[in-house]
Amino acid sequence: MRPDRLNSYFASLTTLKGVGPKIGQAFSRLLRGDVLQPSRRIDLLLHMPVAVIDRSLQPSLAEAPDGFIVTVRLTIDKHLPPPRNNKRVPYRVLAHDETGEITLTYFHANGGYLERQMPVGSVRFVSGRLERFNGVPQITHPDHVVDEDDFASMPLIEPVYPLTAGLSGKVVHKTVQACLEEMPPLPEWQETALLDREHWPAFHEALDRIHNPIGLSDLDLLSPARRRIAYDECLASQLALSLVRSNVKKAKGLARQWDGKLKDALIDALPFTLTGSQQQAIAEIEADLALPERMLRLVQGDVGSGKTMVALMAAADVIESGAQAAMMAPTDLLARQHYQSVRRLCETVGIRVAVMTGKDSAAVKRQILQALEKGDIDFLIGTHALFQQSVVFADLGLAIVDEQHRFGVQQRLMLSDKGVATDLLVMTATPIPRTLVLTHYGDMDVSLLTEKPAGRKPIETRTMSLDRLGELVSRLAAQLEKGAKCYWVCPLVEESELLDATAAEERHESLKAVFGHRVELIHGRMSAEEKKSAMDHFKDGDAQILVATTVIEVGVDVPEATIMVIEHAERFGLAQLHQLRGRVGRGDKASSCILLFQGPLGSVAKERLNMMRETEDGFRIAEADLRLRGEGDVLGTKQSGMPGFRVTDAEAHKDLMEMARKEARLIVEMDPGLQGKRGEPLRDLLYLFGRDEAILLLKAG
Ligand code: ADP
Ligand code: MG
Repeated sequence: MRPDRLNSYFASLTTLKGVGPKIGQAFSRLLRGDVLQPSRRIDLLLHMPVAVIDRSLQPSLAEAPDGFIVTVRLTIDKHLPPPRNNKRVPYRVLAHDETGEITLTYFHANGGYLERQMPVGSVRFVSGRLERFNGVPQITHPDHVVDEDDFASMPLIEPVYPLTAGLSGKVVHKTVQACLEEMPPLPEWQETALLDREHWPAFHEALDRIHNPIGLSDLDLLSPARRRIAYDECLASQLALSLVRSNVKKAKGLARQWDGKLKDALIDALPFTLTGSQQQAIAEIEADLALPERMLRLVQGDVGSGKTMVALMAAADVIESGAQAAMMAPTDLLARQHYQSVRRLCETVGIRVAVMTGKDSAAVKRQILQALEKGDIDFLIGTHALFQQSVVFADLGLAIVDEQHRFGVQQRLMLSDKGVATDLLVMTATPIPRTLVLTHYGDMDVSLLTEKPAGRKPIETRTMSLDRLGELVSRLAAQLEKGAKCYWVCPLVEESELLDATAAEERHESLKAVFGHRVELIHGRMSAEEKKSAMDHFKDGDAQILVATTVIEVGVDVPEATIMVIEHAERFGLAQLHQLRGRVGRGDKASSCILLFQGPLGSVAKERLNMMRETEDGFRIAEADLRLRGEGDVLGTKQSGMPGFRVTDAEAHKDLMEMARKEARLIVEMDPGLQGKRGEPLRDLLYLFGRDEAILLLKAG
């Protein structure tokens, strides 16, 4: 249960004066992305201003610069309402200071209100953008008009917030101030030494400073107040992940025992030798498996770096130790492909491998499930359907999750139900920058595959305008004569009203007109059988061009393919282009990638395509992608900012995430139940930043 001292942080905004149901809904939309979710005070307090308006310039009228926001002290002289018959003439108020005169202009004004606000002869402080017309200073619709008393409390540095329909900056500002007033200080959860070293204020002081900036520098992401709150957020997130981790680890790990015969047999059967990176990753995994704790390891490596092989070796070890292994791929197609690529190897050494996807008939599934439960299958490959309740393993020792960006806390917990001491290996081809690994996978151990398998040739990448399609097709014809295989990627399946993308279907037709039966088509709307037959025709048959949508983005493996054409490359993100390009250059032949674009290109698109030409280094590309599109997009989601983070900025607060990871690890090592003196305040922290699902684990554990 949430402690009472946090109640006022979690009270609904509608409990505040001036916030009725309608404004409340607008706040819900702004802060929770959903009008049905109540917006709480803490949500608004963590709603960071994105800019400030500087009203601190207080010149005399004679000296006031044109076009700037100023705050001036005026004496009101005269009201000039518009003539009755002409609503288009503005309402004007004339005023002066010692150095000159000014006109305040209002369109569609409420004259009575203005007369009460600015009686003739009164002194008023007026703030807004001053402009001169025919030499006469004028402010149209001043932002603030206050008397002397109110001027004392008017912020001269005014924070500007992201808004939504139905909410004005003024209402947000007022509501934030009301929240600040009723925010009781909380016991400190950060170490005093850290606060001293970083010159960080207390939580409530930091929020106060952010929402009531004194100077422009208070808006800086690197200001002490902002860093303090960002660090709180990082620590909450990392602490939650660490708690999950320690919980999972505590939950009955198993020190596995095997002598490596099965793995050695596999290695002997391989037509190549493992790269140094692969060998090292395997060694790291084996060290984990031998420990009496659960393994939580991420294998990160560029496309084609040989992650599947690493996973297979890990599976062999676990299978030799007497347990089962499962591999989960994001799509049916990929699951079948993984199966194809490991089946022969597995059979050679006596590993009983099977594949099961949602597309299998009920009878086939039943048969597989029975065999699985009896332990007659050693290695099951499939989609996330493997998580379903009906799937019962005899003894699941290792779960391998392939190409999965979003493997949440929830899924991890589900997984721990599947086996007695299931070890977990996650593989990702997205070269996620370190910061994002931390935020999304938490405190997982990481193995990096940095080397590409020997003999790989660099991919020549070229950009080409769509106008030159004819030229490309004739060059392609020459390559196909020599037996080349080519992917042709189109952005959308069907003509869409939103994007006039060349549909894969249309492109398929037009290429078929030139190349006949040598062209195949694959897209997401086809059935599994149709997809499989298209893939087989391309992989082993006489098809040489595979027109595809991004269904081939992840994992598809046809080493003979050497040409990748990406149509409307300007519409793809960098990470996606990189993934697609990774489908070629997998064999020993030279490969090329042609990025077909439709000009004119925007600056970001141009930079992306240049980056693609310049490098094949996935990590460089990921960093550039982060810079160009915001980190949400690196993971293929549209939202900006880090998903799940309101204050932390992936770039500016990089160091904080790393600090938080270390500290969270220490905290959990020393006080895994958060029972100590600092435990209570740290629990507050988890609640405030919405990471309290981890608190349930404390209870359970
Ligand atoms: P990833 O999953 O990292 O994209 P894969 O494991 O699918 O890469 O490997 C890509 C291709 O490279 C496969 O055809 C695989 O058989 C091959 N491969 C893997 N490791 C090596 C190696 N050490 N030497 C040569 N080829 C390899
Ligand atoms: Mg793979």
